[in-house]
Amino acid sequence: MNNKLEKLKEILKSCDNIVFFGGAGVSTESNIPDFRSSSGLYQTKYEGLSPEEIISHTFFMRNNKMFYDYYFEKMVYLDALPNKAHLALAKLESMGKLKAIVTQNIDNLHQLAGSKKVYELHGSVHRNYCMKCHKFYSVEELLSKKDHPYCDCGGLIKPDVVLYEEQLDSKTIDESLKAIVNAKALIVAGTSLLVQPAASFVSYFRGQYLIIINKEKTHLDKYATLVFYESVGDVLDEAVKEM
Ligand code: ZN
Repeated sequence: MNNKLEKLKEILKSCDNIVFFGGAGVSTESNIPDFRSSSGLYQTKYEGLSPEEIISHTFFMRNNKMFYDYYFEKMVYLDALPNKAHLALAKLESMGKLKAIVTQNIDNLHQLAGSKKVYELHGSVHRNYCMKCHKFYSVEELLSKKDHPYCDCGGLIKPDVVLYEEQLDSKTIDESLKAIVNAKALIVAGTSLLVQPAASFVSYFRGQYLIIINKEKTHLDKYATLVFYESVGDVLDEAVKEM
């Protein structure tokens, strides 16, 4: 890894327009399970239902009680802390090098680490709104109301998390793609790029250096300047250590 690491350090030093695109593998290093991995959540049935059924818009509207039982048991990790990857990226942003983080994670750990420009493609468990009057609820407030998740106005409170059958937010997509199109270096990490639209996002990159950090191979490895089959946190921590 040493030669590659030196090369990565040079790239990070020379670039002031870096974008990071991250998947579940960034959060697993903070002990948040990867929903889609072979041992992950999506393989396990819950009361006879598949996770895809439960985490769908239809199911949420029909059975919010069971949805929230599942959601707070399997998808919300309020005690999780930023790991070395989150901290390294926050450092790169504060140095003016990293221009944006595009993430598929919903756990807010980039912001907790201090990152400012974070595009959350799948939303965030920390934002919750009444579907009728749009009043904001913190995740703690929602948790305390999970058996009766209704606003004072009578509306149902919904997390700002993209469920199955729902579209990604178009403004977030536009801003993410704009950042990727304009980047000189793109770091893709913790994603196997199998789930759309994640994979297609990376195809918008026109810059010079594509860096992939993922424990498993991806179909874009052959186009990358550098590929690390290692922990995202280990690689990024080493790379920014002396910067
Ligand atoms: Zn309301």
